[in-house]
Amino acid sequence: MAKQQFNDLSQFADELALVERMVRLACEGEHGSAKGELCGECTALLDYVRARLERCPYGAEKPTCRQCPIHCYRPTERDRIKAVMRYAGPRLLLRGDLAALKHLVHDRKGAPPRPKE
Ligand SMILES: [Zn+2]
Repeated sequence: MAKQQFNDLSQFADELALVERMVRLACEGEHGSAKGELCGECTALLDYVRARLERCPYGAEKPTCRQCPIHCYRPTERDRIKAVMRYAGPRLLLRGDLAALKHLVHDRKGAPPRPKE
């Protein structure tokens, strides 16, 4: 079966943009990277996240990754992205980042039934 496409492409773009902001913030704060730059590790992490997101079987129904029952990340990337969110999540919320707020609300909704593969 062909993978389910995001029927709302903007949701995909929003989610990826949010992850990217978080990775950048964490890289700057924790890895000492210059503003607007990513270290090799964070560049690889972001590439990995983009690839997972593109293959997400939920498509537009995608829950937040924390609520997702599938857990498609490898353990290493999963730990890294969790650390990134712990660091960057509260900081984005403090800045009034709308996408981060939306993500928080979305997170409370939990996951829809798992799609058939
Ligand atoms: Zn980094």
